[in-house]
Amino acid sequence: MATMITEECINCGACEPECPNTAIYAGGAQYELNGQMFDALSNDFYYIVPEKCTECVGHFNQEQCAAVCPVDCCVPDPNRAETEGELLAKAKKIHPEKQFADLSAENSRFRK
Ligand code: SF4
Ligand code: SF4
Repeated sequence: MATMITEECINCGACEPECPNTAIYAGGAQYELNGQMFDALSNDFYYIVPEKCTECVGHFNQEQCAAVCPVDCCVPDPNRAETEGELLAKAKKIHPEKQFADLSAENSRFRK
């Protein structure tokens, strides 16, 4: 499932540069998806674009936003359940130029 940011967010900005998929944006900022710009999903808090979040699968074995968030408000979105395979396919679509290593305990939270 994609990760989501709750209203506990204190807008510290620590998570944004940590995302390997550029899925995190500041409240009010437009986001980019497939070369197009879209209006912000939140005007008040940092937000995650679900179509770009892979739970860090393919890159890291832990959600990097959750790892750095000082108030633990980056949490799994229960309404967006996705399999590891679906998340990896999403990562490949986002990074068509990248050669992804086979999934392991190093690059998938599902293998830890
Ligand atoms: S879980 Fe990973 S891919 Fe998803 S928003 Fe957080 S840092 Fe980005
Ligand atoms: S690290 Fe946490 S508190 Fe800081 S902007 Fe990101 S979600 Fe909000």
